[in-house]
Amino acid sequence: MRLTLDSVDLFYHRVHALRELSLVVEDGEIVSLLGNNGAGKTSTLSLISGLVKARSGEVTWGEHDLTRMRPWDMVGAGLIHVPEGRRIFSTMSVHENLLLGGYLVDDAQLVRDRTEHAYELMPRLAERRNQQGGTLSGGEQQMLAVGRALVSGPKLLLLDEPSMGLAPLVVKQVMEVIEAINAEGTTVLLVEQNARAALKIAHRAYVLESGRVTMEGPASELAQDPKVIEAYLGV
Ligand code: ATP
Repeated sequence: MRLTLDSVDLFYHRVHALRELSLVVEDGEIVSLLGNNGAGKTSTLSLISGLVKARSGEVTWGEHDLTRMRPWDMVGAGLIHVPEGRRIFSTMSVHENLLLGGYLVDDAQLVRDRTEHAYELMPRLAERRNQQGGTLSGGEQQMLAVGRALVSGPKLLLLDEPSMGLAPLVVKQVMEVIEAINAEGTTVLLVEQNARAALKIAHRAYVLESGRVTMEGPASELAQDPKVIEAYLGV
């Protein structure tokens, strides 16, 4: 199912956060949204998952009109948003946090299977399954947030800054998990300030500046673009 944002305008009172924003995510892709603080990346994800409403424009996912779909119906259909800051439950165990991802899934066996699969992809979580979420390292908490999303059965996964605050080696591990999830058939829209890490795993990317798309293309091409290198990759 293709995700399409067509000429979307979003306001927070007088702040014009997204300006005639259009983008497409095809089935099976990893698409990255790059841009500095305040460029509109988080707003784009919030719009897709229905947390904020556009003033104009269209947001569709396959047959679904996402501007009208209720959030729990989105989750049920496989549209899963992992917001910035992880938001795991710190006094619950790793295992309980994972099981929560299955709260809309009726089939208990399926939830167990997906939980085991999350442990296979992220063995650190398996080692810490009885530990309280709040005692995990930043990287492990990020893995847990991704694991919980996996238990929901994502078809389209929206990830907001999964690398935030993590050491380079841990960023690499998180990116490898995202790649593995994608290789198993989940489409990924990845918001990142860490352009270098994101462009390594993305198929395509969009650069946002002040709520507009200013560049787009295959990730490998953007990674070579002098403007991208200067603004987002450093030298
Ligand atoms: P960051 O990496 O800091 O989250 P971002 O690229 O995700 O940046 P957004 O958070 O989407 O950017 O913000 C886009 C614009 O909208 C910014 O000018 C921001 O100040 C403004 N904005 C975001 N959320 C709100 C809000 N709840 N109320 C008012 N303005 C907001």
